[in-house]
Amino acid sequence: MLIRAVLFDLDDTLYAQAEWLRGAWRAVSKVAAARGLDPDAMEAALVAICAEGSDRGRIIDRALARIGAPDTPVAPLLEAFRSHAPRSLTPYPGALAALSRLRAEVTVGLVTDGEVPIQRAKIRALGLTEAFDVVVLSDALGRALRKPHRAPFESALAAAGTCAERAVYVGDRPDKDVAGAAAAGMRAIRVLTGEYATQAGTQEPWASARDVAEAIELVRTVGQFS
Ligand SMILES: [Mg+2]
Repeated sequence: MLIRAVLFDLDDTLYAQAEWLRGAWRAVSKVAAARGLDPDAMEAALVAICAEGSDRGRIIDRALARIGAPDTPVAPLLEAFRSHAPRSLTPYPGALAALSRLRAEVTVGLVTDGEVPIQRAKIRALGLTEAFDVVVLSDALGRALRKPHRAPFESALAAAGTCAERAVYVGDRPDKDVAGAAAAGMRAIRVLTGEYATQAGTQEPWASARDVAEAIELVRTVGQFS
């Protein structure tokens, strides 16, 4: 199988998003403390509500309601969340080395959803700023074009100068990564890491892997690069 490009998801594929969220909730709680709220109660509420599903939205509003402070202005807390920029985040074991070995053989790219400044801060904190040939932040194309929309995948393929048949996408979410790659006509490898590791999917991925290092190993085993 001839492979010209391997594209990756970021959150819960290259690192555990829970690490970023923990820091973000702490930052939000600090701002809440400055407004007279109990930071420990706020942080506990944020963590508990987020554990019900980080993608369900309005987590800060729901946490304020839960600690009995529903009338607190949410904007400064949201701003603390959006501007959270940790000095460092921890990539999954072996991820950076595997990525750099792969890049010696093939074009590597990143396709990630999420607010642009937040995703950029994560990329920096992970030491991934120079790790990719192609980076597509889907929100920069338009929030409505988040995965599983095919547009961000197609944009990355165009930037990589190749077609869907010659590319593989590696991601953790069946509903966004596996479905989106399929919509763009690409093979998907599902990595079983992070919050969605046990989520059922409607589409079978081309392959599954324990983590991103194993996914890259698989690509290097089955792929021909020239
Ligand atoms: Mg992900």
